Amino acid sequence: MFILSIDQGTTSTRAIVYDAAGSKLGQAAKELTQYYPQPGWVEHDPEEIWNAVRETVPAALTEAQIEPRQIAGIGVTNQRETVVLWDRVSGMPLARAIVWQDRRTTSFCRELQSDNRWLNERTGLVLDPYFSATKIRWLLDANPDWRARAQRGELACGTIDSFLIWRLTGGRHVTDVTNASRTLLLNLVNRTWDDELCQYFNVPRSLLPTVLPSAAEFGFTRGLDFLPDGLALAGVAGDQQAALFGQAAFEAGESKCTYGTGAFFLLHTGASPVLSKHGLLTTVAAMPDAAPQYAIEGAVFIAGAAVQWLRDGLRLFGTAEASERLAQEADPEQPTMFVPSFVGLGAPHWVPEARAALFGLTRNTGPAELARATLEGVAFQVADLIEAAGHDAATPLSELRVDGGMSRNAWFLQTQANVLGLPVLQAQHSESTALGAAFLAGLQSKVWRSLDDLRRIAAGSRRFEPAWPVEEQRKRGQQWKRAVRAVIDYYTSSSESR
Ligand code: ADP
Repeated sequence: MFILSIDQGTTSTRAIVYDAAGSKLGQAAKELTQYYPQPGWVEHDPEEIWNAVRETVPAALTEAQIEPRQIAGIGVTNQRETVVLWDRVSGMPLARAIVWQDRRTTSFCRELQSDNRWLNERTGLVLDPYFSATKIRWLLDANPDWRARAQRGELACGTIDSFLIWRLTGGRHVTDVTNASRTLLLNLVNRTWDDELCQYFNVPRSLLPTVLPSAAEFGFTRGLDFLPDGLALAGVAGDQQAALFGQAAFEAGESKCTYGTGAFFLLHTGASPVLSKHGLLTTVAAMPDAAPQYAIEGAVFIAGAAVQWLRDGLRLFGTAEASERLAQEADPEQPTMFVPSFVGLGAPHWVPEARAALFGLTRNTGPAELARATLEGVAFQVADLIEAAGHDAATPLSELRVDGGMSRNAWFLQTQANVLGLPVLQAQHSESTALGAAFLAGLQSKVWRSLDDLRRIAAGSRRFEPAWPVEEQRKRGQQWKRAVRAVIDYYTSSSESR
């Protein structure tokens, strides 16, 4: 019994075949073109995404040396918030997808900031162009004919999962609850589309897909030229929630951080939503059945991107891996401290105008000290986020599970454990996102019987225990907080700096 996982990300589309032991048997990937038609606008071509699925799925099956008929279930995970609008009869998109990064609805969101409070309480999110609702509104406002057709029920809208399932099943209009929870249209408490929110964003209810749990009967393949009819679409979740599930974080207090370009931290909070007092988001966690599951989510904008800056901007080394060896060689006596807030400080500080700052340079500061300070700076930023989430959630964290490109750096993970004072568990499977979608599909298709089966598969490969004495952890933490305060002070106290 095999599971096919389709991972449609912002920069690429991947297909991966897993066996019942959770081992990866075959995979294929295709890059995705990014369109920037105007400053701040980001678009994808839905047809290109669909074609990437048509190419990567057969390639992954070939590499795995299995027949399509041997697939017990298909899982889908995807870039979240990105929206597609299509024709219900032809299945053709009316426009390019508006990507989560797209800022075209900034002025709308700014004008209505006074509504942020009730929107936050209703959805767990904030009124920001990032989320889907204002993007859908923009599409319909930009084209009165589309709005009229939407009102007549001729059009369908959805996040990428929904568009792909429509295509895979020959026209089923469904989505999963984690994707729906990123739109600003879903009521966080009852997890159904909210008529008041639909009215507020002027999105006709008839445009929206049916919301299902993350493991469910999403439909069956039908009429495809690359897969036989009748394969079950059985598991769907947005990328971060899929990664949380793929790390077997199923219960309150369990968490994961994915370190890619930025870092995404999710903390499971159990069966009821917890609203953050520190500007973190509340979101629905993957639901393997009808029982509600929630998480708190926070992001650090720059993580691996800081390492990229050392590599490509400063040309200190040739590959990101080299940062590990360099950091090890750094002179422990050098007091270098780096706050890598290149594009502002996010949760829990929220100072968008802040920029990065280096402290403690001496004439002996070199590439090694900069590499160490950069890795430490990322670890400290993530620790601030985790501290804030810990204050919000009733259940304290006992360990942190990690994945993503930067989590291959053992020195960095040891530092993250030291800074947090908590064990850090490196994922055995580097692609927790695709694995999470496979887990959901495999549960639904009975490849796996219980969450314990999944816990065994996801068990971490390597554990990093905190090694700093309590006093050092406190001292270093205070140094970091002083550095952050100085950055905030520099960028907020003088009107000239804004
Ligand atoms: P994304 O999915 O955001 O493209 P990935 O998960 O592929 O990101 O991770 C790539 C990022 O991780 C890059 O920013 C890179 O600088 C960083 N990275 C990769 N390997 C290492 C390493 N060994 N040490 C530090 N950073 C790394």
